[in-house]
Amino acid sequence: MTQHKLIAGNWKMNGSLAANEQLVRAIAQGMGDANCTVAMCVPAPYPEQVNRLRSGTKIELGAQDVSRHEQGAYTGEVSAPMLREFGVRYAIVGHSERRQYHGETDEAVADKAKAALAHGITPIVCVGETLAEREAGRTQDVVKRQMAAVIHVNGHCISEIVVAYEPVWAIGTGRTATSEQAQEVHALLRAQLKAATPHPERVHILYGGSMNAANAASLLAQPDVDGGLIGGASLKAPDFLQIIAAASR
Ligand code: PEP
Repeated sequence: MTQHKLIAGNWKMNGSLAANEQLVRAIAQGMGDANCTVAMCVPAPYPEQVNRLRSGTKIELGAQDVSRHEQGAYTGEVSAPMLREFGVRYAIVGHSERRQYHGETDEAVADKAKAALAHGITPIVCVGETLAEREAGRTQDVVKRQMAAVIHVNGHCISEIVVAYEPVWAIGTGRTATSEQAQEVHALLRAQLKAATPHPERVHILYGGSMNAANAASLLAQPDVDGGLIGGASLKAPDFLQIIAAASR
């Protein structure tokens, strides 16, 4: 269990210059002296704008993906050194939408985590089972396999990553894992990390999947839930601020 929670917003493919400005200003103003780390993972064109807007605030900047490559003929990709130049401190890797729509494999996700770490960016590694996998009793096997690939490639610095358990059936569906379901998988992940690092307690394990103002407090109260990765609710300042407040208690 870590003390200081991390609340990361995943804007997904949402935003505009005007909307971003409104949102960042509202969050910065409302969060005051929040007793947790707050990050915003923004679409690829916006790090420069959001880096400027967050200046003088406690908001950290994140990206939603990062290339496994450093540079070269990889049209459309954005490298870790590029993100770093714009103040990016976190990068989501292996989000289920990228695994599903872009065919990202466990190995690609592990390489992306490695590329991020090599340039001082903390990867937020997403793992999680589909509904069919849960119903087939395969939840543990799936998340362990996804995590094992990342540990295999990044074992020496595994305590520097952030993990996000995101059951695919709970993302954007309004269906949340119960606090007990979340804790069960988080404890499993912690145990897996324990075998790979003497400091598994240093790794933030976030829950993601329809976390909102109403359910955040009970999820965040679980011993192995060290924060949240928030999609939809991170785009609404009042909701995101309530989650930040719940994480600051
Ligand atoms: C996400 O995109 O990582 C996510 C958890 O989305 P939502 O909160 O909308 O379910």
